[in-house]
Amino acid sequence: MIIGVPKEIKNNENRVALTPAGAAEIRKHGHTLYVQTNAGVGSGFSDEDYRTAGATILPTIEEVYGIAEMIIKVKEPIAQEYNLIKENQLVFTYFHFASSEELTHAMIARKAVCLAYETVEKADRSLPLLVPMSEVAGRMAIQEGAHYLEKPLKGRGILLGGVPGVPPARVLILGGGIVGTQAAKMAAGLGAHVTIMDVSLPRLRYLDDIMPANVDTMMSNEYNIRDRIKVSDLIIGAVLIPGAKAPHLVTRDMLKMMRPGTVLVDVAVDQGGCIETCKPTTHENPTFIIDDVVHYCVANMPGAVPYTSTLALTNATLPYAIQLANKGWQKACRENIELQLGLNVVKGEVVYKGVSEAWNLPY
Ligand code: NAD
Repeated sequence: MIIGVPKEIKNNENRVALTPAGAAEIRKHGHTLYVQTNAGVGSGFSDEDYRTAGATILPTIEEVYGIAEMIIKVKEPIAQEYNLIKENQLVFTYFHFASSEELTHAMIARKAVCLAYETVEKADRSLPLLVPMSEVAGRMAIQEGAHYLEKPLKGRGILLGGVPGVPPARVLILGGGIVGTQAAKMAAGLGAHVTIMDVSLPRLRYLDDIMPANVDTMMSNEYNIRDRIKVSDLIIGAVLIPGAKAPHLVTRDMLKMMRPGTVLVDVAVDQGGCIETCKPTTHENPTFIIDDVVHYCVANMPGAVPYTSTLALTNATLPYAIQLANKGWQKACRENIELQLGLNVVKGEVVYKGVSEAWNLPY
């Protein structure tokens, strides 16, 4: 198959869909690979790295889209890219169709085959191509939180781990899924006192078993949240209710109960946020302050660490990309239900229920 990897053109997107190691793997399977010049630069990979791995470098995005049977990328196509996509071309990337009616209609009109990373699903209902980004965001949440707790950044001026003779900071994590677990591991590793809240008792049992002694677990309810926010230095929002907006677990009035300089990192901001006062921010301007409480609400946290994020993402996507290249999308999706669930829009038809429901389109 002829595979193309364009350079991401969405603002501030430095990830790339394939590493040089992935390129070599694809070439080993006998496929032809075209990579746009400088596609990997933001993640630390040069054109020469891809050339050495057996790829051909093309100078423009038009040439990559023009020649490829399968496009592998990271972010959903933006308006400039719509017209580059060809009929019957397989596009394997994040699409998030349910949040963009314009993109949905554009892809229907292009009659491409759109296989969305975010809906590839395993039998246990986990989403293998979303997990790596949650792992990155969870770990980063503590790094960012620790930074904004510093006084010059308007935080409480407390060191997460404390020092001998001085108690550590208290970290409250709302939601003990992928993000929450990774955040808890990082905070505990730095020596903080960590509390994880979740509504799932089996999940709390599991976390209690695997976490170190400086992590405790609590049922998530309003009473417990009100009780803990008064003494927490760093609060991480990591709740997800699949297919729905995040519930506002920390409400506006609760800010008054927190100590000045408390830091809130709402990782769930991409689903509306679980802290009422959070609204999406960017890496250029990541925080704002309400009632002396620092809010960090960057919606694409992994974008700040493109080297790690690219490797984490491609570790997960490459095996699927190779199946698609080896078998063609029809056979690969017939034989692998996980991939089949990734099909969202196929040759002008919406084939994913969530997308048809979001925009009232036939399915
Ligand atoms: P997950 O499904 O693994 O975990 C969510 C957890 O929330 C589950 O354990 C669930 O039981 C728990 N939960 C549900 N309702 C709750 C409540 N009322 N109180 C406490 N816990 C509750 O999801 P995840 O992969 O950890 O993702 C969490 C959020 O982070 C999602 O919104 C995801 O989109 C977001 N995310 C954001 C970024 C970013 O850059 N900002 C990056 C990756 C993921």
